[in-house]
Formats: sequence, C-alpha cells, structure tokens
Amino acid sequence: MNSLRGRHLNVYLMGARVDESVDHPLLRPSINAMAKTYDLALADPELATVISPFTGERINRFLHVATSAEDVVQQNHRQRRLGQLTGACFQRCVGMDALNALYSVTYEIDQKHATPYHARLKHFILQMQRGNFVIGGTMTDVKGDRSKSPSAQADPDMYLHVSRRTTDGVYIRGAKAHQTGCINSHWLVVMPTLRLGPDEADYAIVGALPVDAGGITYVIGRQSCDTRILEGELEAGNAEFSGLEALVIFEDTFIPNDLIFMDGETGFTALLVERFTAFHRRSYVCKSGVGDVLIGAAATVAEYNGVEKASHIRDKLVEMTHLNETIYATGIAASHQSLPTPSGAYLCDQLLANVCKQQVTRITYEMARLAQDLAGGLLVTLPSEADYQNPLIGPQLEKYLKGRDDVPTEHRMRILRLIENLTLGRNAVGYLTESLHGAGSPQAQRIHIQRQMQLEFKQGLAKKLAGIEPDETAP
Ligand code: SF4
Ligand code: FE
Repeated sequence: MNSLRGRHLNVYLMGARVDESVDHPLLRPSINAMAKTYDLALADPELATVISPFTGERINRFLHVATSAEDVVQQNHRQRRLGQLTGACFQRCVGMDALNALYSVTYEIDQKHATPYHARLKHFILQMQRGNFVIGGTMTDVKGDRSKSPSAQADPDMYLHVSRRTTDGVYIRGAKAHQTGCINSHWLVVMPTLRLGPDEADYAIVGALPVDAGGITYVIGRQSCDTRILEGELEAGNAEFSGLEALVIFEDTFIPNDLIFMDGETGFTALLVERFTAFHRRSYVCKSGVGDVLIGAAATVAEYNGVEKASHIRDKLVEMTHLNETIYATGIAASHQSLPTPSGAYLCDQLLANVCKQQVTRITYEMARLAQDLAGGLLVTLPSEADYQNPLIGPQLEKYLKGRDDVPTEHRMRILRLIENLTLGRNAVGYLTESLHGAGSPQAQRIHIQRQMQLEFKQGLAKKLAGIEPDETAP
C-alpha cells in the first residue's frame, strides 16, 4: 500500500483533485481489495504464487505467463477465492490477461515482421516479477461515434493513438474508459480495442508506462452508494472492499522504445483483442466467488428471518448455487481446455471463455433477484445507521427490526446491507453492470460464439442420422 503513496497522480473525484488516493475514504476499499491479492500470496502460496521461469523465484500468479493448462486453471481457482474474500472486484485480472495475450501475440508478430517486441516484453515481465508490481491493462477506448472507424472519427483522440514520434519512443493521445484498478496499479499496459485497417497504423500501439508517467489524468467513476461509507461502517454494507474504475486521459504521454510491444502492425490487432478477451472472459469466474458471498448472505438472512427450513427457500438457494456453478463450470472448462500457442504460452478455449462471459451477463442478475426475494422488502426500507444509533428512536428500531429472537437486530441489519451493497449498492457496480459490460458487452460474445459454432459440421451430423444423402443436401 505504501508503494502507492506519494505519487502525486492527477486524480479527480467528485469535482476535486485528490492529493493522496491511498488515504481517501471513498477509494480505500478498492485499495484494500487489491491488497488482498498480496495477502493471499502470503496466506496460500500454493494457490496464489508460482515459481517464475524467468526469475527462478516465487512470484504472484497475477504476474505469471501460463505455460500449461494447469497454470490457466490455477488463475481461475485464485480468482474465485479472491471473489469470496472480498465480495468485490480485486482489479488485477486485466493486467494478467494482457500479459498472457501479449506474450503469444508479440512472438507471432516478431516471426512475421522480424520486430523486437517479444524480447522487450519478456524483459518487462521480468522487471514486473522482480518488483512484485501491479499492472493495469487498458484496452477500451472512449470510441466516439460507434458507426465510424478510428481513423474516420471527427476527433482523432476518440481512440488512443501515437501523436508524435522521436528516435527514443512515441507520444500517445486519447482516453481509455472504465479502467479497472488503474490508480491502484504501478504500471499500465495500453492496447488497441479493435481490429484496425492498414491505414490506422498510429492506433496499433501497445506499450507499458508507469501509472505516474507525465500527461495522464484519472477521473474516478462514481459508484452507486459510494458515499455511504462516510455515514457509517454498518451503512456501507461492505465497508472494507470495493472495485474501482476511472476514465484515463493521455495527453501526449511518452512511451520509450524498450516499452513498446506493438507499433503499427495493424494486422495483429484483431488477434490481440481476441486472445485478450478470451483470457479475460473466463476470468469472470471471479463472479462465482462473489456469488458465493451472495448465496451465503441470502441463506443467512433467511435464517435470521426464521424461514430457512421452508422448502421454497431451500429451493431458491439450490437455484442460486446451480446458477453460480454454471459460471464457474464454463470458465474453468475454458481454462482446462487450454492449448499451447507457438510462443509456448497457453491459451484458453475461446468458445467456452465466451460462453462463460455470456452466462455471467445474465446469471448475476438472476442471482441478485433471488437474493432480494429472500431478503424481503426491508432490504430497501431499512432505516439508517444514524437512526439506529439515535438514543430516542434507536431502542424502538432495535425492538421492531428484530427477526429471530436469538439473533441481534444489528446482525440482521448488517446482512441486509451486504445484500444491498451487492445487488443495488456500491459492489453492484462490479457484480451486475460490470458483469454485463466488462470484457465486452453481451453482443461481443455472441459474435465469437457465432464464429465458432460449427453449424455445417453439426448439420452434417444431423443429416447423416436422418438418412439424408450428402448430394440431397446441396443447396
Ligand atoms: Fe478480475 Fe473480476 Fe475484477 Fe475483472 S471484474 S478485474 S475478472 S475481479
Ligand atoms: Fe473487467
């Protein structure tokens, strides 16, 4: 946490510049969530660390390039555990998925164009592993007019691009939206967000830069109910952990040559986006960890209300578990089916990764509905912590908000606030809307699924069994 201090970042939140983000009460929960990725490495090294083939030393798995299917699977195991421990987005997966995608793509660019990117990337990864740094991956451009390609935009800054070149490196301009964990990272890796045409070479830029590089402004996104934490710890629902997203604006920010991993190879941008999104879409196994917290909260509120034995309540918990494990099953299957790329790094199954993410866009909402069903209407009519602490009205609330006799009223309030936090409040940002739009909105996954659905092959199976001769099937 101390390594994030004193960087004098240009950070804005609610109209004011934030001098020290580490000490800001609204931002601290997101730093706590990030810090958990370090804590877990100490508490459970088997799960959260690995011996690096680059340094020969034990490193955090978030900085590891997967060289076996087992490595890819382990990423998911750790993501679920961190989701369970934080009930929030712990923000480190984008950087990990970016490194893993870039490792194979830079290798393939070099093979074709005799460029020096792969060796540079390896050197960068080595430095990151030695320093145990956090990397934020930044891909999503602000995109301007969606009907126009990057080069056709009225304002060229709608997509991040090279604005100037020198013999030492490049300057970049543009803005990246919804950047998870950016100010809680040490380094950023910028990447293009879509397939580019041959005339869009200036947009095909991949490079690394420190979070405190000159010319970067961070505007923090608001999260629903984020100021609750200023009103009281009980009121926050989950006072310790949250995610964080920001708009990151680059105004002629410099990237030196040795930190550039793609510059102008437009033919490889689609491959990079495809591999990154494949990794990132099965990273959404994190939501099954958060789902475990929500199931636990729903079961607890049912218990506090004294209805835990009712068959329809049990059935709803079974349904939540079934849905939650569907996310996990598709994600972990994508990881298990990883195959090696020419660079030696492993890539997960792209069809299953997209199916995982598509499930996440729906299942979390249904889980939230079921949790709210079990919580009851008090979820949204619960009086405030201030009223509960008020000497005049507090005792009345203590009496009337009680569920089961043997459960303190405050415990009932706490579990209701946690369900509110996850389904309507601050961490609903991560659990719901981020599940919908993160790593590409639902349609983006459907396009991938469509590309890989092998309809002809499946029609062939059906026709053969139906006794339809091949020549009869010709159109
Ligand atoms: Fe990781 Fe999940 Fe947060 Fe994405 S949403 S960074 S996969 S914890
Ligand atoms: Fe994401």
